[in-house]
Amino acid sequence: MDRKIAIVTGGASGIGLATAGKLASHNVHTIIIGRDHAKLKEAVRQIGTNCQSIAFDLTHIAQIPELIQDIVKTHGKIDILVNNAGINMKKPALDVTDEEFGRIVQTNLNSVFTITREVAREMVKRKNGSIINISSMAAHYGLPGVVAYTASKTAIEGITRALATELSPLGIRVNCVAPGFIFTNMSATAFNDDPERRQKVLWRTPMGRLGTPQEVANTIYFLASDEASFITGAVIPVDGGNSVGF
Ligand code: NDP
Repeated sequence: MDRKIAIVTGGASGIGLATAGKLASHNVHTIIIGRDHAKLKEAVRQIGTNCQSIAFDLTHIAQIPELIQDIVKTHGKIDILVNNAGINMKKPALDVTDEEFGRIVQTNLNSVFTITREVAREMVKRKNGSIINISSMAAHYGLPGVVAYTASKTAIEGITRALATELSPLGIRVNCVAPGFIFTNMSATAFNDDPERRQKVLWRTPMGRLGTPQEVANTIYFLASDEASFITGAVIPVDGGNSVGF
């Protein structure tokens, strides 16, 4: 009866997959959402128990309320929402089209607001819930070539604080994790054709290495758990010191 139910968007790869695995291994029934059916199936197989997938494109915002209602109908509640799905695009700002800018913001920000609103409407009924958003170092200092991504992630930190003030009195904690440079498909794409950028990242990271998805998942899990019962509105860097490095 009391088993927690979690949604992890983008849970079939990278940080999301590590987070889903961590939650499932702690007996949280975890629903992972992504677009790629084969990737989702493989993730569920890898995680083993306590995990199911739903194929859904989060940019189809009008369908999000129905998605959440279906999950609530099946499971009765949602305890944890991890807004992890995201896309990046590296391109000089002067070449970014309106369509490209909108696509990044639609995925990384607009869909996050809508799914959070829908899930929070369910959480307030039980006066309990934990929502974790994922930001980036791009929200902490200027990074060239990622203007749309930066806009979306900076806004994610803003809505984390705004929602924490509105929802915490209703029993819902809202927090954010800001990963530094983590070894995943997303960062591999950014670094593979740009060894200079990779070197620059390592220079300004006091711990001198990239992070692992598991290291980010551990912090997300902590924030989702009752161990973090007095933490809300926080943005926690998991970055090997990158955000304070010289
Ligand atoms: P991945 O590319 O491995 O994971 C992103 C996930 O998002 C994929 O599983 C993808 O699944 C899903 N996704 C993307 N678009 C949609 C969509 N429209 N609908 C549903 N699912 C979608 O990246 P990471 O694990 O590296 O990134 C996870 C989060 O961490 C992102 O928010 C990213 O911005 C953030 N981050 C990552 C950093 C890093 O260094 N790796 C640093 C800072 C922040 P599918 O393709 O099946 O849709």
